[in-house]
Amino acid sequence: MSFWQEKSLADMSPAEWESLCDGCGQCCLHKLEDEDTGQVALTRIACDLLVIKTCRCRHYEQRSQLVPECLDLQQHDFATYGRWLPKTCAYRLLGEGKPLPDWHPLITGTPASVAAAGMSAAAYAKKTASMKRSEDYEDHIIAWLD
Ligand code: SF4
Ligand code: SF4
Repeated sequence: MSFWQEKSLADMSPAEWESLCDGCGQCCLHKLEDEDTGQVALTRIACDLLVIKTCRCRHYEQRSQLVPECLDLQQHDFATYGRWLPKTCAYRLLGEGKPLPDWHPLITGTPASVAAAGMSAAAYAKKTASMKRSEDYEDHIIAWLD
């Protein structure tokens, strides 16, 4: 059995934890919460620190200081924040007792499998700078997460 099948998220080493991230970049897209229903919507609008081409954070080590609303997942309770993650996120899947998808790099052995499966935000993310004046975040909702 592999470590992610044997260990809980809380028991993983820092290296194991980091290796779970598939690099899809979807968690770095802005979300909206419906005030009435509490439903969370994922938009295609990316955090300013996301390098869209690579789906990497420009300042990963300083991210919490530079972007206060960027949550360090290891420091937070999944029961509260798991629903803010994409349904395909490895942390959300394991937190919900589900297996990793077959395109996950830990299974395929290559990070390229994420884009090949159509899971990389690099294919559709955009920055606020490229939004038209008349556009709003709501115009860019691409999925509902709950
Ligand atoms: S959504 Fe999850 S798997 Fe994808 S980049 Fe974010 S933390 Fe990593
Ligand atoms: S600060 Fe970095 S890790 Fe956090 S949302 Fe922005 S790009 Fe993603």
